[in-house]
Amino acid sequence: MLKTTTAGSLPKPSWLAEPEKLWAPWNLSGEDLISGKQDAALVWLKEQENAGIDIVSDGEQFRSHFVHGFLEKIEGIDWEKMTEMGIRNNRYLAKVPTVTAPVRRIESVHGDEARFCRRFTKHQLKFTLPGPMTICDTIADAHYGRRSDMAMAFAELLNEEAKELEAIGVDVIQFDEPAFNVFMEDVKEWGIAALHRATEGLNCKSAVHICYGYGIQANIDWKHSLGSEWRQYEEIFPALNESRINQISLECAHSKVPLSLMKLLRDKEVMVGVIDVANSIVETPEEVAAIIKKAMEYVEPERLLPCTNCGMTPLAREIASGKLVALGAGTSLVRKELG
Ligand code: ZN
Repeated sequence: MLKTTTAGSLPKPSWLAEPEKLWAPWNLSGEDLISGKQDAALVWLKEQENAGIDIVSDGEQFRSHFVHGFLEKIEGIDWEKMTEMGIRNNRYLAKVPTVTAPVRRIESVHGDEARFCRRFTKHQLKFTLPGPMTICDTIADAHYGRRSDMAMAFAELLNEEAKELEAIGVDVIQFDEPAFNVFMEDVKEWGIAALHRATEGLNCKSAVHICYGYGIQANIDWKHSLGSEWRQYEEIFPALNESRINQISLECAHSKVPLSLMKLLRDKEVMVGVIDVANSIVETPEEVAAIIKKAMEYVEPERLLPCTNCGMTPLAREIASGKLVALGAGTSLVRKELG
């Protein structure tokens, strides 16, 4: 009941990478970098356990970015051919690598990292992968022509990776699809089909994380443009409720999402964002408990997973730590009330 988890990413320690920055360059190299990432993952596994987080993750300490971390080992991508591209329907510009040939997974991407984490925690373990649509919205295409075709090609590779992660003992494989909130028609046309391809044959839990983004300025400005009610989820939740994906996330903390939209996910486990990642104010346990209780008006506690709104990579490390503790403590308050 009320199993806690996070959206995935957590800040890198300053000795590992430049803090409070997306795409932060590593501060170590070679063997030092490999062991540094492992040390950072250990710190966060321990912090999550101590905070009372039930389904823990590596905090994405092994990758510099949630999409490109997966792509770095994929064949068919030219990292010299960087293309400037408007991301999330031109919300911001980024220089991204370019697909120039059929994409292939020639080796395991995250296998060693998952094995490492599995060795060091007895908690349920989540591993995050970028979703096919979000990959296609974060890389330039000079080969496939149609975005849906490229998404299916990536979905096949994600499926190979997900099957390996499951065999290692990962309990939840989460696909990050912030693009689902932006291209709602495409979600229904091919986005969910691509997710189904990525999760084909999996027996562990599958999850999809859909958010309004990290707390960076471009996202904050976008949110201000969305009006008094954010109803993007309303367009895609009915189709997601029909899908095979087990867990669906939504933002609740300080968001303008009508909580009643959770009624559209009646057959799913719902990851409810009860921690705001767009500010540096650590929530009190009471504030967290209040959002969980509001969400419980629409989702019974057996299906409700208190979670963060999004990843916490760009936050200061001590703030993210504090927010993890608040998440655990707030959930614990509600559990006590429920007896
Ligand atoms: Zn997110």
